[in-house]
Amino acid sequence: MKTIGIDIGGTKIAVGMVDQQGRIVSQSSFPTHPQRGFADALSRIMDAVEKLTTEHDQSHGPLCGIGIGCTGPIDPIRGTIHNPHILPTWNDCNLVAPLRERFGVPVRMENDADAAAYGEFRFGADAGAGSDPIVMLTFGTGIGFAAIVHGQVYRGLSGSHPEFGHIPTPIDESLQEACAAPCYCGIRSCFESLASGTAIDTAGQLGGFKDSRAVFKAACSGDATAKKIIDRALNATSSAIWTIAHSFVPQKIIFGGGVMEDHFDLFAFAARQSILNATMIPGKQVRIVKASFGANAGVVGAAALTIA
Ligand SMILES: [Zn+2]
Repeated sequence: MKTIGIDIGGTKIAVGMVDQQGRIVSQSSFPTHPQRGFADALSRIMDAVEKLTTEHDQSHGPLCGIGIGCTGPIDPIRGTIHNPHILPTWNDCNLVAPLRERFGVPVRMENDADAAAYGEFRFGADAGAGSDPIVMLTFGTGIGFAAIVHGQVYRGLSGSHPEFGHIPTPIDESLQEACAAPCYCGIRSCFESLASGTAIDTAGQLGGFKDSRAVFKAACSGDATAKKIIDRALNATSSAIWTIAHSFVPQKIIFGGGVMEDHFDLFAFAARQSILNATMIPGKQVRIVKASFGANAGVVGAAALTIA
């Protein structure tokens, strides 16, 4: 048996064939081009799935399903996308029904953060597999959050998804100037606006650095401005992890996303320190671990949604 995982982001769509053990057999990717409209993207997604299934028609058994992880908000129950920020022309577009009709297999869609967490839960050897509940934070353009509880993606009202990237985090008064503008969520100094890759990039550019990579490098060399930006991100992470650990008391908190590729140890240390001496939860037993699948988390996670 094999399955298809489709990972849809604001800039790139990846389509992969995945076996029953969560290993990618083959994959391709192409630009999202959201400005060209949903029909254009749907046609290219169909073609990519068709190509993969044709090429691997005789290997890994029959196709058992198609999973989609899409940048949210989405409605996982109706299978529709509602993302005015990143996919502005895709409002109320149904991706699930046309794929189901064309390929004749079950199709399931989740928010991309939920899909990545589910992939870690099913197949993440060092991360989520064998643990329940788990939560996952994806540090990238934003900060995605997902929780797997009793083996299921945790859902809120109408299938919505908790947004711990947008919880308020207390910050030092002396650091206020770099986060004067409110986040698109509606508040100032939420977790994402201080600790995402975009937040570090933006604060770095205001401080004269090219990008977040330059900020991390300068902070390591002792540059005061860079250090302030990174300290603020770490303080926000500590605060958020305190809240998340007390909300879910998870076995594992998984850190994924581009920022964690090079800086996991730094953020994990801050997170561990935050809950080490908690008295109301077993903070010492909550493990902070790095995601297993790196850049493939989206495709593996999406595919995992339909693997029995
Ligand atoms: Zn926010």
